[in-house]
Order: sequence, then structure tokens, then C-alpha cells
Amino acid sequence: MTAPKHTTKEYQALDAAHHIHAFLDQKTLNEQGALVIARGQGLNLWDSDGKRYLDGMSGLWCTALGYGRADLNAAAARQLEELPYYNLFFHTTHPRVVELSELLFSLLPAHYSHAIYTNSGSEANEVLIRSVRRYWQVVGKPQKKIMIGRWNGYHGSTLGSTALGGMGFMHEMGGMLPDFAHIGEPYYFAAGGDLSEDEFGLEAARELEAKILELGAENVAAFVAEPFQGAGGMIFPPASYWAEIQRICRQHDVLLCADEVIGGFGRTGEWFAHQHFGFEPDTLTIAKGLTSGYIPMGGLVLSRRIADALVQQGGVFAHGLTYAGHPVAAAVAIANLTALRDERIVERVKADTGPYLQQLLRDTFGEHPLIGEIQGTGLVAALQFAEDRASRKRFANENDIAWHCRNVGFDEGLIIRSTLGRMIVAPALVASHAELDELVEKTRRALDRTGRELNLL
Ligand code: PMP
Repeated sequence: MTAPKHTTKEYQALDAAHHIHAFLDQKTLNEQGALVIARGQGLNLWDSDGKRYLDGMSGLWCTALGYGRADLNAAAARQLEELPYYNLFFHTTHPRVVELSELLFSLLPAHYSHAIYTNSGSEANEVLIRSVRRYWQVVGKPQKKIMIGRWNGYHGSTLGSTALGGMGFMHEMGGMLPDFAHIGEPYYFAAGGDLSEDEFGLEAARELEAKILELGAENVAAFVAEPFQGAGGMIFPPASYWAEIQRICRQHDVLLCADEVIGGFGRTGEWFAHQHFGFEPDTLTIAKGLTSGYIPMGGLVLSRRIADALVQQGGVFAHGLTYAGHPVAAAVAIANLTALRDERIVERVKADTGPYLQQLLRDTFGEHPLIGEIQGTGLVAALQFAEDRASRKRFANENDIAWHCRNVGFDEGLIIRSTLGRMIVAPALVASHAELDELVEKTRRALDRTGRELNLL
């Protein structure tokens, strides 16, 4: 283990002096000091003072295999010795990236044929925007440019991916781009009114049809969404939603693009989340679970129809990233996907650990006075705070309640996340029953303490 160079206080002071963090008020953070996470093993993390946390969020939905996997580390070390870098420009390739494609497409449904590798999910969505527009140029419909996303959808933090996403507060920082539009999210608990879930799912999907008709189908390139929404609240759409979205996209000749950055690589118990929901996207954005987050890598997967057009008729594909398909990242991705496949981890999430977690959550929180809804499948779930379950009445200050619960969770030694009025968990896919028990027990303690400390019970 590397001996710490500084005390916790020194790390916090240096961090405050030099680093702007993601998605928070830096002034408040600097007053409190960032939590310094120093070490990880399995599902456990330790901070710089030696306190242990159970990581209920797989880092940022990425450490599918947990921390400290010797096989991933060895793959990286081997590749660093053999060929630490080469690029995919100027008529060259290298063995690891080719082997990664071979493995990736053996795991994907057969109608996907090509990938464009990137270093992150945000970059992959940038590539998506440009590739989709290129596709329509190539097939003779260059006016089809508008990308439709969803309010509260999250597709990354770069300019194009921010525009594609539906986070208003992100649009405000740096502005929107032309040729992007948004529809509502299928958030039944918040917006379902008197409709049944299925009725609401159809209504939410038909917002897409209305938007396409309003913009003119001849101008719309693609609809892009997360199969289940992640950063925008871990929202699972009603069962009726995706089939109707697919019908609308097909009918109006609009590409259907799934952002699988969170849902991909086993999270739902299927290899890809669109398989869980039963629809067939034209493209998949991937990242996170591709390498278990050990090293940055993302990509855009194209269906044969799109790839054929780009390859056969497209001419020069005017895009390239210095580190795309990086040999070390590819080596780690191969080790990671091989472990997910050969250790039958995805199958275990589907048949064993997923149902175990989902049942435990429902048994523990189904009647909890602060919780109005439990959603999830596989090893991903959300608990919705609510003042009244039957009428789906939300707390006016649900954000503050959820943030308090998150902080109490950390205090209890659990890394859990709040998104708007929901608590979300997504543990590593290798979680054991005992670790899932600990996750739910610590979540219960965090919820109960939140209720008591905020006088909600
Ligand atoms: N899409 C989705 C659905 C995501 O959740 C994220 C990251 N949380 C991204 C894209 C962006 O990925 P990255 O942070 O690797 O750029």
C-alpha cells in the first residue's frame, strides 16, 4: 500500500486550494472538506482515517466487479509492458482493440456490428450526435438533424451531451445548442395523476410522437434515452412505455438510441438494459461497466444498418480521438468482460442476487412511513420519499430529505446516493447475500435516523 503523503486535513486543504469538483457548490465543500477515499477491496472502501464504507453505488455505477480485482490489474500491467499506447489513425490498429470488438460483439445481439471507442460516456454521446447526423446525410436526408432527449435525462457533461440531456441547471451553464429538443420523463409516481401505470406509459411515450409531428419528422434524426433513467432519479418507466416509443420511432423513421452507460453490462440481470425492457435500439452508448471503471473507456455501438451506410457509402468518417480504443483500456475491458461472462455474474444477478435484493428492499421498506415507491430490477433500485403512499404525495422538501439521508448513510458507513427525492442503490454485480443484507440494513438505519432527525416520523 502507498504510504499517505499527507494527513486528511492536509489533503482536504490542498484539494480545496486547487480542485473544482463535479456537480456541487465548491464553496460549501471547501468549508466541510471532501471525504478522502483512500483504498478499496471488493465492495468495501476505506477513507483516509481508516473508516470502512460499504459501497452501495459501485463508485459511479461502474465498478461492476468491485475493487481490487487481480485479473484486471494484471491485464493492465501486461499491456503497459507490451504496448502502452498506439492509436487507430492512419490505417493502423492493434491486437487488444480487435480482440475487444470480437468479445463485445459475441455478447451483443446479432444486429449490432460496429463500435466506435471513446474514453467516456460523454464522448460516446458526442460521437452519437455526429454519427447519427452523418448517417442521415449519407442516406440522402441531411435535413434530419434534430436530436430529441428527455427532461432530466443525463447523457454527459460535454457540450453536445449536455444539450442532449435534459438537466435545466446544466443547460443554464454555458447555454443550449440548436437542433435539440426534449420531452417529459415517464415518472409515474410524480406525474401519473389518475391514470393507470400502463395508461401513463403510453401517454408519456406519445409525447414523443407529438414532438416529432411538431418539429416535422423530416427534421428529426433520433430519440435518445436511458432505458431506465439514472442520474435524473433512477426512474423505471411503466411496462407499456418502450414498445410504444419503438413503434413511434419506426413509424416516423427516427433512430432509437439507448444510452446504456449505466444499464449496460449486467446491471439489470440482462447484458444490456434494453433487453430487459424488450426493445431494439439502433445504437447503444456504453462506458462504465465496460471496464468496471478501472480505466476510462466508452463507446458507441452501431446496428448493422447504420454501420453499413457509414462504411459502404460514407466516405471519410471525420472523427478521431487520440486515446480511442487505448490498448491498456482495451486489455482491462477484455479481462472485465471475460470475468463477467465466465464467472456467470450476469446470470447470477438475474437468477439470484437481483431477486434477493429486490425482495429484501420490498420486505424492509414496503410499509416504511417515509417511502412511497420502490422501483428496480437486478442490482439497481430506487426508494421514493413520500408523505403519503396511497395518494403519491411527495414531500415539498424531498431533495433536502434525501440529501440528509445520504449524509446519514455515509455516517453509518454506507455509500448511498440521493437523486432529487429518491435514494438509489446500485452495488457491484459481485455482491454476496451478506453484503446485500448489510446494504439494506444500513439503508434502513439511514432512513430511520432521517425520519427522527427531521421530525418526519
Ligand atoms: N450517460 C449516462 C446515462 C450516464 O449516467 C453518464 C455518467 N453518469 C454518462 C452518460 C456520461 O458518462 P461519463 O461520465 O463517462 O462521461
